[in-house]
Amino acid sequence: MRILKIQTLRGPNYWSIRRHKLIVMRLDLENLAEKPSNEIPGFYEGLVEALPSLEGHYCSPGCRGGFLMRVREGTMMGHIVEHVALELQELAGMHVGFGRTRETATPGIYQVVIEYLNEEAGRYAGRAAVRLCQSIVDRGRYPKAELEQDIQDLKDFWRDASLGPSTEAIVKEAEKRGIPWMSLGARFLIQLGYGVNQKRMQATMTDNTGILGVELACDKEATKRILAAAGVPVPKGTVINFLDDLEEAIEYVGGYPIVIKPLDGNHGRGITIDIRTWEEAEAAYEAARQVSRSVIVERYYVGRDHRVLVVDGKVVAVAERVPAHVVGNGRSSIAELIEETNQDPNRGEGHDNVLTKIELDRTSYQLLERQGYTLNSVLPKGTICYLRATANLSTGGCAVDRTDEIHPETVWLAQRVVKIIGLDIAGLDIVTTDISRPLREVDGVIVEVNAAPGFRMHVAPSQGIPRNVAGAVMDMLFPNEQSSRIPILTITGTNGKTTTTRLLAHIYKQTGKVVGYTTTDGTYIGDYLVEAGDNTGPQSAHLILQDPTVEVAVLESARGGILRSGLGFEAANVGVVLNVAADHLGIGDIDTIDQLANLKSVVAEAVFPDGYAVLNADDHRVAAMAEKTKANIAYFTMNPDSELVRKHIQKGGVAAVYENNYLSIVKGDWTHRIERAEAIPLTMGGRAPFMIANALAASLAAFVQNVTIEQIRAGLKTFRASVSQTPGRMNLFNLGNYHALVDYAHNPASYEAVGAFVRNWTSGQRIGVVGGPGDRRDEDFVTLGRLAADIFDYIIVKEDDDTRGRPRGSASELITKGITQVKPNCRFESILDETQAINKALDMAPENSLVVVLPESVSRAIKLIRARGVVKEETQQS
Ligand code: ATP
Ligand code: ATP
Ligand code: MG
Ligand code: MG
Repeated sequence: MRILKIQTLRGPNYWSIRRHKLIVMRLDLENLAEKPSNEIPGFYEGLVEALPSLEGHYCSPGCRGGFLMRVREGTMMGHIVEHVALELQELAGMHVGFGRTRETATPGIYQVVIEYLNEEAGRYAGRAAVRLCQSIVDRGRYPKAELEQDIQDLKDFWRDASLGPSTEAIVKEAEKRGIPWMSLGARFLIQLGYGVNQKRMQATMTDNTGILGVELACDKEATKRILAAAGVPVPKGTVINFLDDLEEAIEYVGGYPIVIKPLDGNHGRGITIDIRTWEEAEAAYEAARQVSRSVIVERYYVGRDHRVLVVDGKVVAVAERVPAHVVGNGRSSIAELIEETNQDPNRGEGHDNVLTKIELDRTSYQLLERQGYTLNSVLPKGTICYLRATANLSTGGCAVDRTDEIHPETVWLAQRVVKIIGLDIAGLDIVTTDISRPLREVDGVIVEVNAAPGFRMHVAPSQGIPRNVAGAVMDMLFPNEQSSRIPILTITGTNGKTTTTRLLAHIYKQTGKVVGYTTTDGTYIGDYLVEAGDNTGPQSAHLILQDPTVEVAVLESARGGILRSGLGFEAANVGVVLNVAADHLGIGDIDTIDQLANLKSVVAEAVFPDGYAVLNADDHRVAAMAEKTKANIAYFTMNPDSELVRKHIQKGGVAAVYENNYLSIVKGDWTHRIERAEAIPLTMGGRAPFMIANALAASLAAFVQNVTIEQIRAGLKTFRASVSQTPGRMNLFNLGNYHALVDYAHNPASYEAVGAFVRNWTSGQRIGVVGGPGDRRDEDFVTLGRLAADIFDYIIVKEDDDTRGRPRGSASELITKGITQVKPNCRFESILDETQAINKALDMAPENSLVVVLPESVSRAIKLIRARGVVKEETQQS
């Protein structure tokens, strides 16, 4: 077995509209191609021994053990690899269920599709599955140690990719509310929503969190000063920079017990509390100095530690934090109890799990001593031994929800404090003996205010009710269901995608909105090019969706991108499918036009149910996509008598129709005429029918998004693509006596399209310079010849400089064959060199004729034509 290719899909795709995270592995079974599993001695037994849990896979029999039954009876190795890859992820704690295996047109080569939660883990699982199966084929077994290593590696991928508990809670809540999110790949930034409606977060800071508030909160001394001045109870204390000042400071706060902590610290680092002697104070001073230059000396307040979370001015959760401790059982030593406590799967390292493992530090031993214990002491049953003085979760503490117990006056105080500091999300540390009574009554204090407070003690307290604090954050960022999205319009088809995308973007600009769009020529925002190049994949889509200025996204979606990586967003508001025609067949395991239609149909299917699929009613494969999508349907047609469209309109549907030389929107009883084709430059004076079709599609896509007829009209009338903007797309040159047209039509459907324009050229002779890329199939060249014979009065057959592996002369021979099939007495000649062929055509062009060049190099063709003295470049202008 050999893996030929592994692709990672990240969005609606060829295999599934709903499952966005898929690995596609192209697998050559080699010598196993003809050997189902039942013909491999010992395979079934070896597989069951290595992965007994495969029993849980139902597979097609639909019952427990169904898949293993298939293995015993005989199934192909690709299918087994699929199930093994899924099971390996499952064993590593990643719940995945979706898989598909299909043989390609090449016998023995399979496509194995598996779901993933983590990309790296998914790819790894695919490779490991092949390794495992191969080992069982070769040796009858897969070593246990290797399997364990695989599972450990998979677990590591999963853990390393985890977002941290606070961010996790936030994105989960976002997903629940249908708010899209993505990781920006720097500084742990998360984007919620798209374009102009996006919000950003970094842990629990938002883009509304004020820098002044954050800096103030981080400066504990300044915070206390501001709060004290506002009458808020805070610990009495002072800041020192030298050990010499320590004694005086202790006196100032009223003597022992005291607390010493670094001026700017966090997570309890360098803090010592309940200091009762000078020796302890000196050691504590040194510990605090390790963290910060200046050191705070404070009175020690007796009480329990509470965290009050305030979001958007309201207290949303209160937790009591209990310092790391163990509870005796009358048998185990303290050391053993710690060990046992740390076995809890909920305890991880640092902040990566709900709780953190208990680790001992300097203060732990002091505490033990004070309680009269050593690590070897056996605690009586039920006795609590504290191991840390402070209650930070990250030092092994746990949390008890107290949201329902806090006194209303303290709620008022906490909300006021956060307003004074100036934070949208803040965590207050309150020390009090009783949170249900006002602070003043029990000598409680607000110890500090935290910016970016952790959420895990609230969403997963060790005791009490979990609180949906992320919900409060979402309510703040996206109030009253305010949309987090921007309209996304996607365009696909075999021909006309770029033209239609540009036109639709131009129409949308008439609404005054900032439009971001991507095409095979580049990515644009508003009137400017952001990045040149073939930008039709998900990365370019993300560039647009991440841009904070973009109000509308119009995205060209080409087959290559959908196939390689999926759409890159969950669903669009409008999905336009222009046409499906033979092109690029045989590439990427898309061998038939129906497979190609299935691929393009992703764009029609990945539309929100309240959105629209804009479909070409004149192309039966496109029209049929209506059956597959849950979205509303809107049809466009060049045929005013289309039966399909008539019925659709009768049922209350909307359509764009070319009728009586008008582009019109038809809805219910009414026909809204947008404009005469002649007045739309793109249609070349109404002579290029396929451009009318593209314009209908763009108009309809805009209309279903509530762009007005007036705005659509204004867009259609002012859309002019110059030769420099759209080289190779119907570039018409007026050369005085005659015209020349350059187009890079490169498949039969686009030849047809250009042909429709050429046939409308009635003033004189039509001369064609034709050829095509060498990697197309033989029959494509014959078709080209046949079409050319039908369109032109005189044909010059040429070849590309780069024949893409085809012997020179072969393409022209095939084209010639096609020509003579249709018109045995057609006038034509072969000039293989493109430059010579073009020059010959231009030399011979009679009065009022049209020379049509379908070149390999658009720029060279344009140069040759311009050398003849162009009177006017009439590209897409009437
Ligand atoms: P974090 O940001 O993780 O809350 P931190 O390092 O910023 O911790 P503080 O919040 O100032 O430190 O202190 C940590 C804990 O120590 C407090 O939550 C409280 O339990 C205790 N503590 C701090 N100062 C005092 C004090 N003056 N009296 C009593 N306990 C205190
Ligand atoms: P690509 O796949 O290269 O990105 P595209 O789909 O973006 O192509 P355009 O760049 O808009 O297509 O147009 C390329 C050529 O396709 C045009 O010059 C014309 O020859 C032809 N074409 C455009 N629209 C249509 C159509 N609706 N039907 C058939 N052919 C068309
Ligand atoms: Mg604190
Ligand atoms: Mg394109």
